[in-house]
Amino acid sequence: MSGLNLAQLQAVHYTEGPCLVLAGAGSGKTRVITHKIARLIETGMPARRIAAITFTNKAAAEMRERAAQLIGRQAKDVLVCTFHALGVRMVREDGHALGLKPNFSILDQDDVTSILKDCAGGTTDLATARQWQWIISGWKNQGWDARKSLAMAQDDHERSIALVMQRYEERLTAYQSVDFDDLIGLPMRLLKGHPEVREKWQRVLGHVLVDEYQDTNATQYELLKMLVGERARFTAVGDDDQSIYGWRGATLDNLKRLPLDFPQLKVIKLEQNYRSTSAILRAANNVIGPNPKLFPKTLFSELGEGEPVRVVACDNEEHEAERAVARILGLRAAANPPPAWKSFAILYRANHQAKPFEKALRKASIPYKVSGGTSFFDRAEIRDLCAWFRLWINNDDDPAFLRAVASPKRGIGHTTLGALGGFAAQHKQSMFGALFNAMLPAAVPKRALEGLLEFGRTVNDLEHRARHTHGHEAAHAFLAEWLQDIGYEQYLYDSEDSEKVASARWGNVLEFCDWMAQRAGGQIENTGGATTQKEIKSLLEVAQTIALLSTISEREQEQDMVVLSTLHASKGLEWPHVILAGVNEGMLPFKLDDDEGRQEKVADDVAARLQEERRLMYVGITRAQRTLAVGWSKKRKKGREMVAALPSRFIAEMKLDAATSREDPREKLRQLRAEFAARAQGQAAATTPAA
Ligand code: ATP
Ligand code: MG
Repeated sequence: MSGLNLAQLQAVHYTEGPCLVLAGAGSGKTRVITHKIARLIETGMPARRIAAITFTNKAAAEMRERAAQLIGRQAKDVLVCTFHALGVRMVREDGHALGLKPNFSILDQDDVTSILKDCAGGTTDLATARQWQWIISGWKNQGWDARKSLAMAQDDHERSIALVMQRYEERLTAYQSVDFDDLIGLPMRLLKGHPEVREKWQRVLGHVLVDEYQDTNATQYELLKMLVGERARFTAVGDDDQSIYGWRGATLDNLKRLPLDFPQLKVIKLEQNYRSTSAILRAANNVIGPNPKLFPKTLFSELGEGEPVRVVACDNEEHEAERAVARILGLRAAANPPPAWKSFAILYRANHQAKPFEKALRKASIPYKVSGGTSFFDRAEIRDLCAWFRLWINNDDDPAFLRAVASPKRGIGHTTLGALGGFAAQHKQSMFGALFNAMLPAAVPKRALEGLLEFGRTVNDLEHRARHTHGHEAAHAFLAEWLQDIGYEQYLYDSEDSEKVASARWGNVLEFCDWMAQRAGGQIENTGGATTQKEIKSLLEVAQTIALLSTISEREQEQDMVVLSTLHASKGLEWPHVILAGVNEGMLPFKLDDDEGRQEKVADDVAARLQEERRLMYVGITRAQRTLAVGWSKKRKKGREMVAALPSRFIAEMKLDAATSREDPREKLRQLRAEFAARAQGQAAATTPAA
């Protein structure tokens, strides 16, 4: 238990009842959780009786690793996961009480949108379906089912959405599928309606720990309450100043309710920040200052004053990206040994802001990765293809079945799939297995049956051929032929309004197939002067390794690369050197004017949203350990035009001392030299006669 201060030790040692650690950024809240896991195990609690809930899968992976460093192999038995992953586990184990079979499917956002569109009669456009999805999700997060939503509907519009929700619920039951919100809602129903299940989980879980508690929503709180029961052995850690998911239903009420619902709650405050220099911490405290204080906190650092926070005014986004690259190179050049690439992070408000930075980093040959954005393997088209491979490997994978049968669409509608799903559940078979059940013809209409059987034969045939396809050339030919056969390229062009988007997606498909074919091996590879003959594999073997893809992308995270991330995805993390990018009015804070024209609510909304934006800025600043630069542009792209832009009000609110925050003169000099060189080169080019 070394490396903990007194307050932290107190939080770690108190294991008999409910405990809340409420403290500012970088004060060691997450560290309390990992050490408390170790402490619980030390005092004899079996690892499998401990659950630690984090906000993202990535945070879970990191926590598991930190715990492993403390307690070794036992760490892998601790249930470290997100609320949703815990929900999956509970529903898999006990969902039969709700009539779900253990291998139910989990629908992703695309699946949900397409089912909703269909429930509305298929005439609805994508944007409307997404809007409904958002509204229905909001209702589900309040714990409402369709019947309740219908009863609560305020007007005809809401009533019509509630009716669509009713059909949507029926579909999901028939498909034996659940959506993302169900992963919280169904465990709730289990615990509420089935005392034996509730008692089981309360017995199993000896202690529950929750990180980033300020970002839980109402149903997650209810779930937590029911999981811990009367004994209330749990530890929640959080910071009200870092609540940045209000737009997704997270509520600070959960923090306020905790002492009321658990009068015996032990509240512990941490005041020392171990992450950032005083200069950085002061800027952070100044920014959060104007927000109303829910729980007063103080935060100090003993890491010394450190480098002043820099504000970098730029001409436009491209210029900002160049300055960021110059800064990274400059900081590396100034230290011996130079800091690793992975000690730098560039953080911004919205995903699309990454692009100029990606280009500038690429140009300078600096390794980087975009985290929190869509990874290549998460793209819809790649997941479509993977669904086919998954089906070859495991015919009983129902989510894969549903995805493959619809990509491309082959005239098999949701009604047919609903009937098939119901039939399969009745006969305790997977959907694919049910295709070959002699009794199926009685359950689905004849024309639909033909489509289904055709699909089943295609999958079987492809699986057989993939098993006997070996090596790069053959794999390549096979994949090309397969895509041709199922008409995937045409399908992409048909389903996208924009030709440009469709062609980009098709490009991804080709890139993916190349990658697959390469892995089938056989071709000579030239790596660093040594040629190696790669082992030849069957395409089916290659497809099998696709199941390991998620671990591949996890491994990538360890590599030495500059990180580009949204501010939201940066929560809980830290880097020695941070650059906040695009800190302009309209970006951070994001444009606050309400475009829906609900006048009376506007004033309240704007104030609340500004507070959340301010917390986002606070999260950004407090990611930095040693240096922080804040960039803004005098001109920003708006559609096709360049418009004048202002620095964010948060820059002034950091109250940087003018004398120390001024730009480093050496950097300015470098900049002037670079500009001069560029101009000289341009002139030379202009005066050189064309050949
Ligand atoms: P955030 O609010 O951003 O999630 P946090 O409160 O969870 O921050 P941690 O990430 O746990 O803070 O800790 C911040 C940094 O301080 C980490 O590098 C951690 O290892 C270090 N740290 C925490 N407590 C101590 C301590 N008592 N002694 C030395 N270092 C510490
Ligand atoms: Mg933390």
